[in-house]
Amino acid sequence: MRGTKMLILIVIQLICFSSCQPKVMTETTMAKPMEIVPVKPQAIVKNIIFLVGDGMGLGQLSAGTYANGNQSALEAFSVIGLHKPYAQNKLITDSAAAATAFACGKKTYNGAIAVDKDKRSIPTLLEEAEEKGLATGLVASSSIVHATPACYIAHNEYRKNYEEIAADFLDTEIDYFVGGGLKYFQRREKDDRDLTKELQARGYTISDYFQADFKSVVPDSKTNFGYFTADEEPIPVSMGRDYLVDAASKSFPFLKERSNSGFFIMIEGSQIDWGGHANDTDYIISEFLEFNEVIKEALAFARADGETLLVVTADHETGGFAIQKESTMDSIAGAFTSDYHTGTMIPVFAYGPGSELFSGIYENTDIYHKMREAFGWSASGSSGQ
Ligand code: MG
Ligand code: ZN
Repeated sequence: MRGTKMLILIVIQLICFSSCQPKVMTETTMAKPMEIVPVKPQAIVKNIIFLVGDGMGLGQLSAGTYANGNQSALEAFSVIGLHKPYAQNKLITDSAAAATAFACGKKTYNGAIAVDKDKRSIPTLLEEAEEKGLATGLVASSSIVHATPACYIAHNEYRKNYEEIAADFLDTEIDYFVGGGLKYFQRREKDDRDLTKELQARGYTISDYFQADFKSVVPDSKTNFGYFTADEEPIPVSMGRDYLVDAASKSFPFLKERSNSGFFIMIEGSQIDWGGHANDTDYIISEFLEFNEVIKEALAFARADGETLLVVTADHETGGFAIQKESTMDSIAGAFTSDYHTGTMIPVFAYGPGSELFSGIYENTDIYHKMREAFGWSASGSSGQ
């Protein structure tokens, strides 16, 4: 990384020295021949928007692009890289180990929620952001205690301990969260706590699908905000789920108002993965098309804001999905080699200040380190392995 930065500096200086040298030497230029041409300071990264399409490999985003009239919001990104998604104990990762890699910069075992291979809690980017006074958010089209969002806010040895993961929401001051899983907060089997009441007692505005349609909800940035979109897992887009784009577009101005220091938010298109597990091409495509709209909203915000780094990737590919020879642009015929995740490398798309850090081929854990570097936070001292 340092090498790359140095190389960029040298290249910029070479370009400036070669193209900025006047043809005729004047007295002034002669007087200071070796003056360093100042490099224009880069825009700072105040906010990071991290978009994760669970199970979105190259096949999935290709199929979604073709099915969308041969275009997607990803084509607006000029910095593209690849990450290696393998876990600490398996070549084929699950979403928990993969999200821990993104959230904490450590490879761990499949099933781990922000704990290392010895089941010790490791700090997450979201927790660090909270400590530094940034506003934070999590949005998912799964339950909010599902592996991908859970790894930013909870620490647990096993991803399916949903009630324990829900209780960990009380350990941070997350500013904005939207997703399913109300029952793990409100009607718990292992204790009688009502975590929605506990959050409200701390000043949160909490609502759910039963009380109000998300479309009609206007989050007030004077208080922390949580909204539950389902009792357990939200339904697929094809069956009528429609909150993800709205939850994304409302989050950006909300978080910007919450803190002058910036924000971090992770937004997950959770069910592209479930289409892969179901070996269902239409499921994959409909979920991708919604996720594509989320990317558009994030791009529009990042473009206007100028201090926002936007990173889009997936945790892994699901289904070994490939587009078959019978396919046309309007009618994708997909085939699958698996009903589980595969080990293929995963594309990363970055936009905005700091985006140049994300080109090349690297470990999934490096995404965490690159985000820290973009924020200007000190190195965490972890090798990432
Ligand atoms: Mg997920
Ligand atoms: Zn999966």
